[in-house]
Amino acid sequence: MRGRTALVTGASQGIGRACAKALAARGAVVIVGARQTEKLATLVDEIRDDGGGAEAVELDVQDQSSVGAMARTHGKAVDILVNNAGIARDGLAMRMRDGDWQSVVDTNLTGSFRCARALMRFMARKRWGRIINVSSVVGLSGNAGQANYAASKAGLVGLTKSLALELSGRNVTVNAVAPGFVDTAMTQALGDKARQKILAQVPLRRMGTLDEIAAAVCYLASEEAGYVTGHVLNISGGLYM
Ligand code: NAP
Repeated sequence: MRGRTALVTGASQGIGRACAKALAARGAVVIVGARQTEKLATLVDEIRDDGGGAEAVELDVQDQSSVGAMARTHGKAVDILVNNAGIARDGLAMRMRDGDWQSVVDTNLTGSFRCARALMRFMARKRWGRIINVSSVVGLSGNAGQANYAASKAGLVGLTKSLALELSGRNVTVNAVAPGFVDTAMTQALGDKARQKILAQVPLRRMGTLDEIAAAVCYLASEEAGYVTGHVLNISGGLYM
């Protein structure tokens, strides 16, 4: 990926951080975006210490002016966008507050749309680009207690396929990954009992690793994946088939 520049949203921890490190290890310059800038600074130092190229940008995908500022300063350079920023605010639909619905949809779905809209013009001009949206297996299967989250992640599947069609003539591919259960702050928040219950349903009987998700993102960002577009890659240990 030498010569390519990737922007990873939500790169301050978890899957986004792992994607940034993996893309950098493959030679891409990575621009890491999130709200927690101290964590981004540490990540940039780590990548540079390993001989890679990295830069940080303060980014709140819920805020259009923040996305606009990122696009003005870095848009021209970006060849690969990984829309990873995401949150969960779980609860049964019957009792779900508007705020918990709205913030999840705003971050996971609208935030990804905003970043894609801001950056796709630069990729289209270059006649080369990759957009990878981090959806979730629950966007395909649904999940009790996650109506907001599952709806936002299902929305990303529709967004992925629509953008794939709109950008196909410009050699910009748009794909999604749909991870299952991965060990990050998001799943640690579930508590031991809920985690054991979910794990019992995973045919491969373990959680996915950060490296496994990052490797799939790197493949979709690669030259070799140039004929793959509009695809949703399910990485869930068989949880959903
Ligand atoms: P995580 O550890 O909680 O990390 C979430 C990341 O998103 C953080 O870096 C956070 O950065 C960023 N973020 C949240 N709101 C943001 C905003 N408004 N603007 C910019 N960045 C924002 O969670 P994770 O498990 O790595 O999740 C990463 C993605 O994978 C999410 O989209 C999640 O839905 C998806 N996913 C996770 C799993 C899993 O099992 N873990 C499974 C399927 C899909 P700041 O707080 O610094 O802004």
